[in-house]
Amino acid sequence: MTKVVKFGGSSLANAGQFAKVGRIIRSDESRRYVVPSAPGKRNPKDTKVTDLLYHCYAMAEAEENFAPALKKIQERYESIINGLNLTLSLNKEFQEIAENFKNKAGEDYAASRGEYLNGIIMANYLGYEFIDAAEVILFDKDGEFDADRTNEVLTARLKECERAVIPGFYGAKEDGKVKTFSRGGSDITGSIVAKAVRADLYENWTDVSGFLIADPRIIKDPEVIKVITYRELRELSYMGATVLHEDAVFPVRKAGIPINIRNTNAPEDEGTLIVESTCRMPDYTITGIAGKKGFVAVNIDKDMMNSEVGFGRKVLAAFEEHGISFEHLPSGIDTMTVFVHQEEFIGKEQQVLSAIHRLAQPDSIDLEGDIALIAVVGRGMRSTRGTAGRIFSALSHANVNVKMIDQGSSELNIIIGVKNCDFEVAIKAIYDIFVVTRI
Ligand code: ASP
Repeated sequence: MTKVVKFGGSSLANAGQFAKVGRIIRSDESRRYVVPSAPGKRNPKDTKVTDLLYHCYAMAEAEENFAPALKKIQERYESIINGLNLTLSLNKEFQEIAENFKNKAGEDYAASRGEYLNGIIMANYLGYEFIDAAEVILFDKDGEFDADRTNEVLTARLKECERAVIPGFYGAKEDGKVKTFSRGGSDITGSIVAKAVRADLYENWTDVSGFLIADPRIIKDPEVIKVITYRELRELSYMGATVLHEDAVFPVRKAGIPINIRNTNAPEDEGTLIVESTCRMPDYTITGIAGKKGFVAVNIDKDMMNSEVGFGRKVLAAFEEHGISFEHLPSGIDTMTVFVHQEEFIGKEQQVLSAIHRLAQPDSIDLEGDIALIAVVGRGMRSTRGTAGRIFSALSHANVNVKMIDQGSSELNIIIGVKNCDFEVAIKAIYDIFVVTRI
């Protein structure tokens, strides 16, 4: 059995957190490949090392004196080293970093040092081999991640070693220049490593006990989702529920490797298991609820729309012309509504409207802004009758007016549009009916 374990920044923020991570890794022989993030926040007011590095490098770019800022970062690592009683010095590394900052090695290089240095400490602490991600995570000359070449090189390299630490978040281009993924990208590295070693499980350790059924800022102590499929996860993440970097799913999903979200501060919790498919039904009819505010409904009317071939295409072309993607497209016989992001739409509103008039000649167009979309997601809905009925009776009891309903034919989700101001009340009502009262 082989597990790849990735630890997020809050799991590695100080020596105490490192010690917890050490205990987790040592408690299971199969945790052979470790992917660390850079040290994160030690308290809510703290700054992540990655952000300190970006800031410090901006000073170097502006040819300001960045030495004190870099010293602060070094002290942060030294307090981890000292707290763990390691005999390790990072002086040489910091000298090299200072030199490279002076030579303007690039923002990506600067940010990547957070993971690089944490990886060196972690390898020393565990007695595992350290592998610089720049040697094994490869980007092409345009800066695109090169999945095939990486998999080849990484598989060959890891075959040689029983246990290793590979820092997250970065790799290198063909010319050796360091390149990072987008923020939170250590999740992607973990997934790539899991694929390369054909791991049985990719454990992603963070500071929550898994993916929650609903947003904890709206629902107090929501329950954790025990098992979720990749498709359900995608639906919920798209609507704003995030624990994992979006791109982290692809490498392991293709390789059929499940992801287990775990909590470094509560290792006894089982967390959330993300799988390709499962016959395990969720505890409740729904797997999760997520949503976003800030949409506009563009309602278009035209008599006999139903018989006009190509009407929808012409309307959508008006949005396409202005680079606006649509979210949902409910329609009636002589009406069609296009849901778009308000922020994206607002600046181009009049141009889009005149393009619709020009291309599709509607009778009228009416706009309604400040709409929130809520996705109720669950593989269990397919085999349960009355899910939609329960949602709408819960919403009507909560005095929420439903503006739009859209159910995908996969019966995996129901999307509901409500006014922004009803958003929280609506989510509470849906959570209550399915999870609290379990009617
Ligand atoms: N340290 C990087 C960040 O703060 C990458 C990561 O933590 O995954 O975004």
